[in-house]
Amino acid sequence: MISTAFEFHAPTRLDDALTLVAEHGARAKVLAGGMSLMPTLNLGLVKPEVVISLNHIGALRYIKEDGDFLKIGAMTKHSQIGKDALISRHCPLLAEASHVIGDAQVRHRGTIGGSIAHADPAADYLPVMVVLDARLRLQSRGRDRTVKAGDFFVDIMRTSLEPGELLVEVQVPKMSRGAGAGFVRLARVEGSYAIVNAAAIVNRSTRLADIAIGGVGPKPARVRVTLDRPDDPSRENLDRIGQAAYDACEDAYGDLSGDAKYRRAMARVYAQRAVKEAISKSR
Ligand SMILES: Cc1cc2nc3c(=O)[nH]c(=O)nc-3n(C[C@H](O)[C@H](O)[C@H](O)COP(=O)(O)OP(=O)(O)OC[C@H]3O[C@@H](n4cnc5c(N)ncnc54)[C@H](O)[C@@H]3O)c2cc1C
Repeated sequence: MISTAFEFHAPTRLDDALTLVAEHGARAKVLAGGMSLMPTLNLGLVKPEVVISLNHIGALRYIKEDGDFLKIGAMTKHSQIGKDALISRHCPLLAEASHVIGDAQVRHRGTIGGSIAHADPAADYLPVMVVLDARLRLQSRGRDRTVKAGDFFVDIMRTSLEPGELLVEVQVPKMSRGAGAGFVRLARVEGSYAIVNAAAIVNRSTRLADIAIGGVGPKPARVRVTLDRPDDPSRENLDRIGQAAYDACEDAYGDLSGDAKYRRAMARVYAQRAVKEAISKSR
């Protein structure tokens, strides 16, 4: 049950949405797919006086190529990302993450912008954004800026979005030749949030393995390790990757799905698995 009455707006133009967000400030909440906002409204955890839906702004729903980047409108749904040919070709990591989010209903309603702005530490896009060095375009009335994903996530469900700003576009670099990407996750059952997730990119020519681990600390942890053998890292090298992931997750939290110690131990294992997966995909 929705416990409070609110004023509802459904603009069809981004400009009008930005005006409404500026006008109503902290009294307002933006509605994207509603997959996270509606439960918090129903539970009375947030009580906005105004709800501004972005669902009728067609200009926020697109996937396009722009030089070395793919640009994705904030209102693009997980299901569209999962089946898009440009994304499968140039950014398979993002497609993989979109396939494992919740269930079919969640993937058909939830949006990439909503998930990233919500910044749940266990969300599957978060480590992907960080390891890709994705850029997030934030717009308000009179301001248009782009921040790196690594600077965007601040704490549990806290981002660098400022009052009056909307996340309007996600920009992901195309995978370079000779690189491979892996995404792995540990979840209690299929369809539930990850306890730990990890995304890795391995570049065979530089021998660098970039890894981001989600679900463990308040925001994704990032590590970079040089591989001794890019095709088949030694046991010592894999141990070093695991140790680096463990060290980077010193701010691990615990909940009913796993305490901090367990999460940190799993960060070690899943970072190694993500790298192995990336190596196998780079072949
Ligand atoms: C049963 C269930 C299972 C799920 N499982 C997973 C899972 O396994 N993995 C996973 O990653 N996620 C999971 N989710 C979350 C899902 O991915 C949601 O889609 C996502 O968290 C929120 O996206 P949304 O579009 O629904 O946003 P909403 O719920 O509409 O909004 C979420 C928050 O972001 C703000 N917001 C939305 N869009 C913008 C914008 N463009 N600019 C600024 N602020 C904005 C809203 O004001 C709100 O505070 C699950 C959700 C459910 C209900």
